[in-house]
Amino acid sequence: MLFREGDGGHEAYVIEAGCVEIFTGAFETRRSIARLGADEIFGEMTLLGGHTRLASAVATEATSLIVISHEYLEERVLAADPLLRHLLRVVIARTRDNVLRLGQNTSEPGAGVSGTAHAAADRQAALQHLRLEQAMATALEQKEFQLHLQPIVRLGDSRPAGFEALIRWIRPDGSRVSPGEFIPVAEQSELIYVLGHWIIRESCRCLAELDRLVPGAAPFLSLNLSLRQFDDPDLFPVLEAALADSGLDPRRLRLEITESMIARDADATLKLLQRCKALGAKLSVDDFGTGYSSLSYLQRLPVDCLKLDRSFISDLETSPAATRIVGAVARLAHELGMETVAEGIETPGQAALCRELGVDYGQGFHWSPAVPLERAAQVLSPSQAA
Ligand code: C2E
Ligand code: CA
Ligand code: CA
Repeated sequence: MLFREGDGGHEAYVIEAGCVEIFTGAFETRRSIARLGADEIFGEMTLLGGHTRLASAVATEATSLIVISHEYLEERVLAADPLLRHLLRVVIARTRDNVLRLGQNTSEPGAGVSGTAHAAADRQAALQHLRLEQAMATALEQKEFQLHLQPIVRLGDSRPAGFEALIRWIRPDGSRVSPGEFIPVAEQSELIYVLGHWIIRESCRCLAELDRLVPGAAPFLSLNLSLRQFDDPDLFPVLEAALADSGLDPRRLRLEITESMIARDADATLKLLQRCKALGAKLSVDDFGTGYSSLSYLQRLPVDCLKLDRSFISDLETSPAATRIVGAVARLAHELGMETVAEGIETPGQAALCRELGVDYGQGFHWSPAVPLERAAQVLSPSQAA
């Protein structure tokens, strides 16, 4: 006997060899539900919640089993995304209900899904994810996305030298969804490709429009690429077409990739970056200093610019260590022929320190948040000079 109806269960079994009979009722009057052989799994309904057994299992010959414990599965499931977790729970609960019906025992129907607070949180997260994904698809058609531009200021003369394009989603009721919320959802589907193409075309269009509104300023434009876009076969054709259509010098386009993207797959990144270089675009490493990557990639990757993460800048005025790190990165970048941008500058003191430490550019609320194109043109115009 492997387990009896009513026992508490915390594991499922895979039959390696032998035969197992599953039955309900007492042994003498048993009603057989199934006879299972090699490679089949049983007891799986107990895995997610540690439920009581709905049937008994007995090995009818010499049998060897592999045990899958509740703890082991929970570990694996927690590593999966909330949608998968939720679906798994729904499927298991349905199977459980079916078994209950087979056994004509209708107690605790559906107990797997709504049981724990964990499951409720997963259901919320899964539904929120689905809603966002669907809303995003229509938002693209309804033109609810806008690119806003945040000035990147040359610290030497405090003049805007370029902009970072940051996507904004403004719903018809005026509410906003933050990119920190919807970009990760887009990244889990093909939506990131469509959105990515739109961002590239719109960035080039904005840059060409800035040239028309402020002739001669020739700012650069930095745009964010996400890891999933590395797998997009249309990424380069779209970049090439957008550059050609807008007639822009590709050197005015900077592609930002985060340090954690490099850490995850240095070889893929190298290939991608070489293609970007071949196109003529420049490359920036975003969130520099936070990606737990080794500095050796700087030697291998054709990087033009390091963007120092905001966390170093916010500590500048209080932490001597942050000051030394920012100074050292600025020197290292110059040694390697790269430029530096300090992100998230919010105070005049931070701006002054970055300038003294040899950082080339600054970006942050001290000057301006990301603003619509018309406002960016005003910021850029020479009559705005301080
Ligand atoms: P990021 O690329 O590191 O962008 C900088 C973020 O810091 C932006 O938030 C910006 O508004 C914010 N920021 C700028 N200056 C300051 C400051 O002085 N203080 C503070 N506290 N924050 C500042 P946002 O726009 O919410 O974007 C968040 C993240 O979403 C971005 O981080 C980027 O990873 C992603 N994202 C935004 N737009 C795009 C896009 O067009 N494509 C992709 N792939 N990702 C994007
Ligand atoms: Ca960025
Ligand atoms: Ca950043």
